[in-house]
Amino acid sequence: MARRVSPEGLLRVKPREAAKAVAQALTGLPALEGKAVQVVFRPALWACRGRLQARPPGVEVYAASFLRRRRIYLEKNLLGDPSELRRILIHEIFHFVWLRLGNGRRREWEALLAAELRQRARGELGHSSQWRKQALKPGAIRARSRRWREYLCESFCDSAAWYFLRSASHPEFTLNKECRQRRERWFARLMACAPLPV
Ligand SMILES: [Zn+2]
Repeated sequence: MARRVSPEGLLRVKPREAAKAVAQALTGLPALEGKAVQVVFRPALWACRGRLQARPPGVEVYAASFLRRRRIYLEKNLLGDPSELRRILIHEIFHFVWLRLGNGRRREWEALLAAELRQRARGELGHSSQWRKQALKPGAIRARSRRWREYLCESFCDSAAWYFLRSASHPEFTLNKECRQRRERWFARLMACAPLPV
């Protein structure tokens, strides 16, 4: 059964010693509703063909989420960098929110990003959405291509993380002020609808 809980109450952190850092990273988040999600810290994470391993080959990553298994993996080094832990963990949690956001809100978000692209707004609010935005081909919006849909999701997660860190500067926060303000208003409305489904 779904439960309405504070974010740190929803997460099962491994190892237990990291639980306090995780709770601090989630300060200010609204209540979430859903089944428990495991957060597992590992010394190193290598992504290779959709699998996660402790060593190469593949690409080294900070974090990875497995939505059906309800598990988030984070690189252990993040425990030494509270603001990056906050940014990256919120991004991962909002992957779960996106999955359950519902078509109405997803369409709203899509319209917002499509309007930005039509205005040729450059920049983004995280590397994950930035490279996908740069790789979009003309016509991607109309075709609702896979890359476009991935971009919508990553931009949603990056923007959610930015929303909670927006008073700080970060080299990956490159979107212009006008677009940031629109996204901020959109997220303020979303947060007012808490508990958010995860
Ligand atoms: Zn992501």
